[in-house]
Amino acid sequence: MYDTVVIGQGLTGLLTAIYANQYGQKTALVAKGTGKLLQSTGVMDFIPGKQADIRQWAEHVNYTVNTDGLQSAVNSFQFLMEEIHLPYEGSLSENVPLLTGAGYLKWTTLYPAAMKPVPAKGSVVIVGFDELTDFVPEYVKANLALERPNLTIHTIRLEKKVSTVRPVSQVDIAYRMDDAYERTQLLSELKVRITADCNDKVDLIVFPSILGIRQHATVLKETESALNTPVTEAPGLPPNASALRLFQGLRQHAIRSGVRFYENSEVTGFDVQQDKVFGIQTQANGKTHQITGKSFISAGGHRSLLETVEGESRNDLKNYWNAGVFPDEVPLQYGLIGGMYAILESAHTTSNMNRSLKGSETSAETV
Ligand SMILES: Cc1cc2nc3c(=O)[nH]c(=O)nc-3n(C[C@H](O)[C@H](O)[C@H](O)COP(=O)(O)OP(=O)(O)OC[C@H]3O[C@@H](n4cnc5c(N)ncnc54)[C@H](O)[C@@H]3O)c2cc1C
Repeated sequence: MYDTVVIGQGLTGLLTAIYANQYGQKTALVAKGTGKLLQSTGVMDFIPGKQADIRQWAEHVNYTVNTDGLQSAVNSFQFLMEEIHLPYEGSLSENVPLLTGAGYLKWTTLYPAAMKPVPAKGSVVIVGFDELTDFVPEYVKANLALERPNLTIHTIRLEKKVSTVRPVSQVDIAYRMDDAYERTQLLSELKVRITADCNDKVDLIVFPSILGIRQHATVLKETESALNTPVTEAPGLPPNASALRLFQGLRQHAIRSGVRFYENSEVTGFDVQQDKVFGIQTQANGKTHQITGKSFISAGGHRSLLETVEGESRNDLKNYWNAGVFPDEVPLQYGLIGGMYAILESAHTTSNMNRSLKGSETSAETV
């Protein structure tokens, strides 16, 4: 039997399982899929597509602003990201403009070190790859020029290096950048091109989201050092390496810390007796399984899984919590709430759960 069973492997579920485990609870994570994180850019917005500050966001999610609580959740997230060597910059006090793969500015709150705010003036170089059809440097330049009229913008295209049977994605090139030989070749070619094409001092070099996957920290460091200039990724259509790195980093950290994963497992029923959940039924590979636990956290997207699966809403359950749920009537840009809500909800829910378990006979310390 587990102390805590987390359902969902999106950003909320992964963070929740890691935090529950940090509280000393024997934790399982059950999920039928990977969630929305892999479709995202991997940066943490209040509301994707909208420059919302804390106050506007809080109104959207019906959250009474407790800046200390939110700051503490952000601290936990940033501490964790340092630990998994994927540090996140940014603060609650201001949103910063990052560049998207379409050349538009995207205002965000927390972002990985591989991304940098776009300056208002100076000189930037946008680097594209012939085989990458969903990142077109000239198109990015045209849109960025409208947003940043005082910026000098250069474009460079690197020639096709491999012939492929399918369209190449940013993630394909990111994996190639993990290879030291390929990386060195590419960076020396780029250095020559930048010196030849740009006669001004370059302040920022923009890449699609390709700065490595498994060797990301090395790729980022070597790229900035070889080009002697800050670099940024401009994530575009999914999949983005920035999101994949975050997903894989959290998942591997959870597994290494001892969280037990039940993947491809759909929760099809809850065993509820009186005011407690005793277990869940799952379907995996055509077989039914029972997973028992002392506490359950649903991180299944914006709806309560108990309500979705059992068709009833229960507010009286002593050992069941929802993380990342918000009411249907909340009006959201594109129907999405950003990663900041997952950061808040995972920290907040695990803290509430731990406090509640400590006060009961199912306390983690008594297990
Ligand atoms: C295209 C797109 C782009 C986005 N871009 C950004 C961005 O740039 N910045 C930003 O901040 N936010 C962005 N978001 C939003 C952000 O990704 C999500 O808000 C966040 O990831 C929500 O995570 P979650 O874990 O709460 O939910 P989800 O990601 O929906 O995860 C739910 C999990 O529950 C599992 N699940 C559901 N039902 C069951 C069941 N019955 N049994 C077992 N498992 C179940 C799912 O498989 C999944 O693993 C984007 C979202 C989308 C769709």
